[in-house]
Amino acid sequence: MFKPAVDAADDAASVLFNLPEYRVVAVTCDQVGGRVVFIGTPARQAGCPSCGVVTARVHQRTLQRVRDVPFDGLVTVWWIKKRWRCAEGLCPKATFPEHTDQVPPFARLTTRLKTRIVTALSAEVRCVQAVATELGVSWPTAMRQLTAAMGAHAGRTADRPVLVYSLGIDEHRFRSVRWYKDDQQVWRRVEPWMTTFTNLATGAVIGVVDGRDSTAVKTWLKTRPRWWRHRVRVVAIDPSAAFRAAVATLLPKARVSVDHFHLVKLGNDMLTAVRRRVSWDTHDRRGRTSDPTWAHRLLLLRGYDTLSDNGKTKLKTVLAVDDPTNQIGAAWGVKEQLRRLLACTTVADAQRERALFNQFVTWAAMPETDRLKKTIDTWWPAIATSIRTRATNAKTEAANVTIKNIKRTGRGYRSHDNYRCRIMLYNTARMTA
Ligand SMILES: [Zn+2]
Repeated sequence: MFKPAVDAADDAASVLFNLPEYRVVAVTCDQVGGRVVFIGTPARQAGCPSCGVVTARVHQRTLQRVRDVPFDGLVTVWWIKKRWRCAEGLCPKATFPEHTDQVPPFARLTTRLKTRIVTALSAEVRCVQAVATELGVSWPTAMRQLTAAMGAHAGRTADRPVLVYSLGIDEHRFRSVRWYKDDQQVWRRVEPWMTTFTNLATGAVIGVVDGRDSTAVKTWLKTRPRWWRHRVRVVAIDPSAAFRAAVATLLPKARVSVDHFHLVKLGNDMLTAVRRRVSWDTHDRRGRTSDPTWAHRLLLLRGYDTLSDNGKTKLKTVLAVDDPTNQIGAAWGVKEQLRRLLACTTVADAQRERALFNQFVTWAAMPETDRLKKTIDTWWPAIATSIRTRATNAKTEAANVTIKNIKRTGRGYRSHDNYRCRIMLYNTARMTA
């Protein structure tokens, strides 16, 4: 389109204001002491968007309020905007308004303000409301800029997704469970879980979806092209059957790897369950401070190899004093053996430790340990893959910390879309930085 050449601004106010294509016409103060800036373009002619004929006739001048970046505090900006009259008498357009790169048609915000909003919210974990207040816009306006930036980013990456050989799928809770009444006055539950997808090689978050079931994972995977899915070799997941089912259907070439962290936790949960049951059996009540096994419950969960000599002695005493049936001791042994199994660096070593683990479970002969063995049996191929490839969601942890910070600064987003938008944009900013 025809663009009038604008000579460089040379007056002091315009140079300071520094808005491309504009001149500062006047600066005044309003009743409450705020600064009001009137701007206009020096354009003397414009091309009609309909017929292309260049015109120099100004039909009228209107005042348009424009939101712009603050200058040592907020300033009110008014654009003295021209409406041109088309020089071609037969043109259906008759009149048309001027517009610039900084204020395109229908825009209420300058382009530089939009950029400032997106940068402030994607480069740092900041509260949307705080940024909106600082830049003199409303929360929805600030959020709308983020959504638009996110859409533009998604458009750029959708054409050619980056190949991912090891993929991490990790669930996290994004808020507490809440209920709300919908339009039909029916109570509905707010889905408090989200699932993140990460490239394990870089730690980059490549997707965030609502929920943590098989459907959620499948829906996201289906948006990926087939060639992309067939390149994924390893997928690190939590020990969740739903995730495994989704991976088996949509990532046919990938082997599942399960995080050690989650399995150690399963071992600890098993020990805690046994400790609680034994407490009821022996005292007919739940544990309390006077019970050594309750008082030292965290000591029981610590890895034996991480304990000091003092800690080891203490542990021995606790089990000798408060474990008459030796059930807690047996459960503790199973838990420790699981830790040794998971610490192995070769599958052959792990096989040997597993045989010992199974032996311990047989000796323990408790429903809790049997259940743990069943889980380990089910996930054994995934554990072996994990030992072989060392594919873990550890790198995802960094992203999860950010996600939690975004959640905290946002004081709980009600909308998943807004939350997802911030996570993805923050991640993009982090990756390109
Ligand atoms: Zn025209």
